[in-house]
Amino acid sequence: MNINGYTLTCGLIGNPVEHTMSPAIHNTLAEAMGQNLVYVPFHVQTELLKEAVEGAYALNLLGCNVTVPYKSQVLPYLKEIDPLAERIGAVNTLVRAQGGFKGYNTDMPGLARAMEADGVKTAGEKVLILGAGGVARAVAVMLADTASEILIMNRTVEKARKIADEVNAAAGRELAGVISVDDYRKLPMGERYLAIQATNVGMYPRVDEAVIEDRDFYERIHTGYDLIFNPVQTRFMELIQETGGRAFNGLKMLLYQGVISYELWTGVRVTKDMEEQAYRSMKQASAGILH
Ligand code: NAP
Repeated sequence: MNINGYTLTCGLIGNPVEHTMSPAIHNTLAEAMGQNLVYVPFHVQTELLKEAVEGAYALNLLGCNVTVPYKSQVLPYLKEIDPLAERIGAVNTLVRAQGGFKGYNTDMPGLARAMEADGVKTAGEKVLILGAGGVARAVAVMLADTASEILIMNRTVEKARKIADEVNAAAGRELAGVISVDDYRKLPMGERYLAIQATNVGMYPRVDEAVIEDRDFYERIHTGYDLIFNPVQTRFMELIQETGGRAFNGLKMLLYQGVISYELWTGVRVTKDMEEQAYRSMKQASAGILH
């Protein structure tokens, strides 16, 4: 890496940031494209978030990613918000605009591109979303454009109901329904769903856990997408595979949210070959972290 007076800087704002794989993605892409750009992590304390965003703009940073816990908290400090990010209520990418940063959400387009790469279609699908947290809400908002039916399954049903109401209000029809995790046996027999696992159950170190263990439930799933990427093979994925379904983890979503951020910052389209290089170095960088 040859850092000089022309080097452009991008970074990650979060707390913590120490285990991030984003530098591996972006620095590999910059190198592969021959761009004089570096990407560094910034550990930001909550009470300094505003100063961090304004300071990043003042220091002429080309762009930033934003991660946990600031994806929604950062909104008041932005000059503009992209309509999709506005609908989702969270941004993970800041791009320079006139007088401040514009916020985008590349997590959901990242998931969409990952699914496309994995050959998982959402158009006309009956989708079961497991969870009703921030990410589950974003998935529901995104899939409302393509799915034929959305069922949100959560431990706390009221949270699922709130998301379904928002989705239905935006769609102008009863697209989304809710079900409690405890009622999974009430799912219609013979129905086969695309399931998106958006809870944090099964994340390292509690790798032996899944929200539902019963094989009867997994018989109803033809494809499972677990947004967890550590471990790379989750208990949820294992249960789906045992009942003959296809299962994927969240690593490609992570890759593609980065690829799309990079494209927004630089205005260049990342090629398939460069994506693969970034995917390899992301996995190498996380050796010892990923299980
Ligand atoms: P969140 O807002 O904290 O929501 C967590 C969800 O998990 C809630 O619905 C919660 O249910 C449910 N849950 C937690 N413990 C449970 C248990 N023991 N039994 C049943 N349900 C339980 O989290 P989030 O920000 O939406 O993130 C969700 C997942 O997305 C995380 O696993 C994260 O790793 C993953 N993610 C992946 C990527 C990627 O690039 N691949 C990016 C972002 C996030 P209640 O509502 O009942 O509490």
